[in-house]
Amino acid sequence: MISKFLNSQTMKTTYLVLVFSFLLASCGKRVTNPVIAHRGAWKAQELPQNSIASLKKAIALGCYGSEFDVHLTKDDILVVNHDKDFMGIDIETATYDELLAKQLPNGEKIPTLKAYLEEGLTQKKTKLILELKTAPSGKERTLKLTRMAIDLVHSLKGQAVVEYICFDFDAGQLVSQLAPKAEVAYLNGDKTPAEAKKAGYTSIDYNYKVYLENPTWIKEALDLGLTVNAWTVNTEEEMRNLLGQNVNFITTNEPELLFKILDKK
Ligand code: MG
Repeated sequence: MISKFLNSQTMKTTYLVLVFSFLLASCGKRVTNPVIAHRGAWKAQELPQNSIASLKKAIALGCYGSEFDVHLTKDDILVVNHDKDFMGIDIETATYDELLAKQLPNGEKIPTLKAYLEEGLTQKKTKLILELKTAPSGKERTLKLTRMAIDLVHSLKGQAVVEYICFDFDAGQLVSQLAPKAEVAYLNGDKTPAEAKKAGYTSIDYNYKVYLENPTWIKEALDLGLTVNAWTVNTEEEMRNLLGQNVNFITTNEPELLFKILDKK
């Protein structure tokens, strides 16, 4: 009798329903990873910001993404650094070789974008969040930097792993034209979600204070199909507030803290 039941179509159907329900429940429990390490994971590790070591650490932590900043030297080499100067040497008016006169505190030279991407593209799990810095000399050089960065990403076949962010509205529009499948986020906080979407952006990535001043923008952006990111969010209170509003990503100097909060949820 029992074996008859076990062999029955009913049993097979019941089994399939149970397996399917389990898979659905597992998916439901999976916490989407919103953690983007700002300039790599450097703070808790006492590593230099934007160093290759900080990128490796963000990858090891399992961050969704690791953010970094890109400038263009006088002799047209793309380099990774936050400020417009590297240890006191102005990047835009210096050649790459001149920048090699200084080192990061951990002994690394200033990373070229090529070296940075080659390291990041040894894996696919952590996205490389490439900030196109606004060139001090103006629009023409900002757009040149944008074109060169996209060309390099494409030549390294990094399209599936690299996402773009920028303060210059035109730079992001150029990304949407030259790399129409790429994720591109606007950083400057002075455009409504609808304006950003119309210009070709896939995401808004604003200072978290912009969302406090414009409390409808997160929902408006999500309703428009944009993703929403906030920077630079370093306290538990701000992280919880943003997670409660269903933002997709949080860019932080404290990725370890954000992971801890997510584990407790
Ligand atoms: Mg940045």
